[in-house]
Parts: sequence; structure tokens; C-alpha cells
Amino acid sequence: MNGPDWQIGRILGIPIKVHVSWFLIFGFVTWSLATGYLPDMLPGLFVGRYWLMAGVAALLLFGSVLLHELGHSLVARRYRIPIGQITLFVFGGIAQMHREPPGPRAEFLIAIAGPIVSFVLGGLLLGMATMAHVGQGLVALGILLGSVNLQLGLFNLIPGFPLDGGRVLRAGLWAWSGDFNRATRQAALAGQGFGIALAGVGATVMVGAGTGAIAGSLAANGGWIILIGAFLFTAARASRRQAAIRAALATVTVEEVMVRNVATLHPNLTVEEAVTQHFLPQGYGGYPVWDERGLVGMVTVQDVQALAKSLWPRRRVGDIVEPWSEDMEVSPKTPVLTALDRMFSTGRSRLAVMQDGLLMGLVTRSGISRFLQLRGLPR
Ligand SMILES: [Zn+2]
Repeated sequence: MNGPDWQIGRILGIPIKVHVSWFLIFGFVTWSLATGYLPDMLPGLFVGRYWLMAGVAALLLFGSVLLHELGHSLVARRYRIPIGQITLFVFGGIAQMHREPPGPRAEFLIAIAGPIVSFVLGGLLLGMATMAHVGQGLVALGILLGSVNLQLGLFNLIPGFPLDGGRVLRAGLWAWSGDFNRATRQAALAGQGFGIALAGVGATVMVGAGTGAIAGSLAANGGWIILIGAFLFTAARASRRQAAIRAALATVTVEEVMVRNVATLHPNLTVEEAVTQHFLPQGYGGYPVWDERGLVGMVTVQDVQALAKSLWPRRRVGDIVEPWSEDMEVSPKTPVLTALDRMFSTGRSRLAVMQDGLLMGLVTRSGISRFLQLRGLPR
């Protein structure tokens, strides 16, 4: 998701973040409850009371989404998959997992945990709402939250990746064929299909509302269904591309994509010299820094940028270099996917390819994307 997000706290050590688009849905839910559902269910209250109850209900709805995501996260943790963060955004929540599940069984259990949480919550809330001795306000709230949780569970079971149901489908296809990337591509294709189908349902609802065949107030629901369908389609298409890339790179080693004849910078060079003799005329975004003893580290355009221009003639490359660490190096036989994952987890754009203490080349994000481009794949 693009746009800013804010961390609102941590649960079980997992950072909980709210994306800027969350406020949109929060506002929409509060407004529709305060002006529609609540006055219908509980007539005769002050307007301010409706808005207050609607705000509380909207917060509890998002608490429900959060519990659903925590369901996924807790099972993922049992499989030692680190959870980066949980983000709430306009269409629900995302628990960011730092690794793919180790096998189809793990995939299935992680995927199904979220809907199970939603169904249990929905059942409990509806059960409580039907108990006679609670007030009318609580009954209205319980029915609302209960049915939303049931809908949340059901919607997520649509068998199109990356929805939970699509992950269940992927687990099945993965178990059947033994090919993770192929299972992802197939489940994501189903996701694209359901995305189009949802958009079609939404459009039908809108047309129906517009022509008076169904209640006009349902037009907004049609709009939301179209948006959700478009979102599912886009997310599924991105997953399919990513799986295609991973499949294309599955047997490729660093050696095949690395840049050879790499220029290196000496740590004694001034930053000014590095800029005028290397960065500008050669056009690379970063260089290995090399002295008599070997690799000293890496220096990038960003490192230069972080230094005030007036200091360039007086500071040396050795002063601004990111010092050597083990995760800067790969060997020529390292799979490209391992190198790519390393780049993503460390935020680096280039790694040094080393063999027996010699610098054989550089593997870079742009080099990998050129390789994909030459094979006719999306970058
Ligand atoms: Zn889920």
C-alpha cells in the first residue's frame, strides 16, 4: 500500500499500524451507522448519541479485523514465521509475513485461522445479542458486530489468492502438484477471476439501484463491491507476476546475472574525487570500496548525498563507507532468489560477489531486472 501509516501500538510484540486509507472507511462506517442503521434500530435518541455509538461500533469493527489478523499471525508464529507488522487499511487488514509457509499444511492452517476467529467472534456476539437481559443498545451493537464478523469470515473464504480462501486453494494445489510457484500462479488466476466477478456483481447492484429495480440506497454498496473486486484483481495480478518471476529465477545463480569488471573505490579517495571521477562519469549508484586487504564495504549515492557538499573535498570515501558485513557478500553459485531476498530484507540494492577473497562482480537489483526484461518477463 502506498501512502503514510502510523503505529498505534504493539500486541504480542507485533507492531500494529493504521494506514491513511483506514480513516476513509472509519468515516464512512461511522456516518452510515449514525444516519442509517442506528436510528432504524433505536429510534428516538439524540443525534449526538447516534454518532457516539457509531464511532464506538466502527472502532469495534476494526478491533474485529485486528483479531482476525492476529489469528493468522499466531499460527504463523507457531511455524517460526516472523510477522513484520499488522496494518489496517481501507479494505481490512494485512499481517505481513517475512517468509512463505514451510509447506501446504502450514499454509492451510495459517490461512484458515483468520476466518475461524471471525466465525467464533460472530457466533459469540450474535449469541450474546439474543440474551434477553441486555439493553436495546447492546443488542443492536451485538447484532451488527456479530453479522459483520460472519461476513468477514465468509468474504475471506472466497477462493481467490491473496484472500484467505485463495491461500487455502493454494495449499491444496501445492500439496497436489508439489510446485509452490505454480500453485501460487493458479490460485492468483482464480483471484483475478473472482475480482472481475465481484466487480460485475457491484456493477449490477449499481445499475439495479439506478433503474429502481432494487432500493436506491444500495447504490453505495455496489460501488464498494466494485472497489473490492478491483482491489482483489490488482493484488492477484501482482501475486501472479511475482510467482512468474520467482519461477523464472528459480534455477538462476548470481554468476549469470552479475555485473563483471566492477570499478572499485579506494578508501583514501576524497568524496569529491569519487563523485567527479566515478559516480558522475560512470553512472553507477554504488561501488565496492576496496583496499590492499580486500573489501572494506560499500558506498552509495545515498551515502554521498547524506554528506554536506562543502565537506566533499575534505572527507574521504573511507569516512562515509558502510563498513563490511557478512551479508554484503554472496558467492557466484548463490541462487539469485537468495540474493534478492537478502537485498529486500537488508534494504540494499547491490551485493558483492566474492570467491576466494576476490571480487568477481556485483549483483544489483537493476541487473536482475534487466535479466528479467531480456527474458520477456515483468520487472
Ligand atoms: Zn484473513
